[in-house]
Amino acid sequence: MTTSKTIEIEAKHTPPFFNKIPISIERGEGVYTWDEEGQRYLDFTSGWGVTSIGHAHPAITAALTKQGRKILQNPNSGLIHSPARAQLLELLAKILPSNLTRVFFSNSGAEANDAAIKLARKVTGRMDVISTDQSFHGRTISTASATGQASHREKFNPLMPNYKFIPFDDLAALERSLDHKVAAVILEPIQGEGGVQIPSRNYLEQVSKLCEINGSLLIIDEIQTGFCRTGPMFAIDSLDVAADFMTMAKGIAGGFPMGAFAVSDRVAQQFEVGDHGGTYCGNPLGCAVAHAVIHYLVENDISSHVVKIGNRTLERMQGWVQNYPNIVSNVRGQGLLLLLELSDVETATWISNYCQDHYLFVRQTQGNAIRIFPALNITEQEMDEGLKILEKGLQADAT
Ligand code: PLP
Repeated sequence: MTTSKTIEIEAKHTPPFFNKIPISIERGEGVYTWDEEGQRYLDFTSGWGVTSIGHAHPAITAALTKQGRKILQNPNSGLIHSPARAQLLELLAKILPSNLTRVFFSNSGAEANDAAIKLARKVTGRMDVISTDQSFHGRTISTASATGQASHREKFNPLMPNYKFIPFDDLAALERSLDHKVAAVILEPIQGEGGVQIPSRNYLEQVSKLCEINGSLLIIDEIQTGFCRTGPMFAIDSLDVAADFMTMAKGIAGGFPMGAFAVSDRVAQQFEVGDHGGTYCGNPLGCAVAHAVIHYLVENDISSHVVKIGNRTLERMQGWVQNYPNIVSNVRGQGLLLLLELSDVETATWISNYCQDHYLFVRQTQGNAIRIFPALNITEQEMDEGLKILEKGLQADAT
């Protein structure tokens, strides 16, 4: 196939949901990808926070091959035990917050959130769900209902009832909204799609306390922040936060489509047979890949690497606010979830296109910003290669 043929076929046979980029990627290795004509591109998006240990990592290939030779999907799916699932559960038990003792696997982040919301309603017998402005929790009907961005909601009204929105990082607003009808509060520890919004230090801890007092369950959405993306294994790791549910996806399996929710024993005790399920629900192939990815993160102390390289990158980006004050309005982030906020949408589009023309993929976010979230094992040299292109773009736009 050639790029032009691929583009022609995809244009003809897929719905027009994306403003497609006219590039066709055939393969990848580490932080690099290659198009069908052999042109190399540096990937600062990791497929939207997914390829956490890089493209085509040998540990993933080995797990795929080994498990692929054994079994992909269990007879009778979740009704039958699976050693691949058990091994992953055992590993997750070592890294999850200690109160989250039970895990159920899904195929995506939205499904994990969907299940958490559904089950929180069942367990509490309450209906209301509180979410935050600018949040992103998925594109299914219930997770779009929980997403605080008009662009993901307004065309699909009426959405699910009983969803309420409050400003992120606003405890007073939460206190006002919590009452005996609130089943759950759903929150990202750092808003990702919403523009890498980091709340104040004690916000999540206070939210946790308020939920507990009110008898509402706390769903922490670590779909973008989990698995070392912001440094620690999970963004709430160093906080005194007692989540009832934690949802995960993206980096959990490095590119294999997989999600999960972890739930406390206290809540799980109130579930019954038939409350939830799914055809794949921890399919052995996905479990084997997730195990390989998480094992790699732990064994190679990727957490420390992310903190180090993230701080170094943020420091360098902070210099851009001084050097290009007319176009760079802010930089922020934690670990390898970083954002460069530009003066306006046109500038962000121009810089993003400049990067692409110079063989670097970045992700334009919220119109006027660029998000940088490469593979977590990116080297300093690879990071510098991309930052150099970005800075040249800023220089070119500033002149
Ligand atoms: N929650 C958060 C915080 C996300 O960033 C995303 C995706 O970007 C989702 C949920 C939805 O996950 P998925 O696209 O796997 O359904």
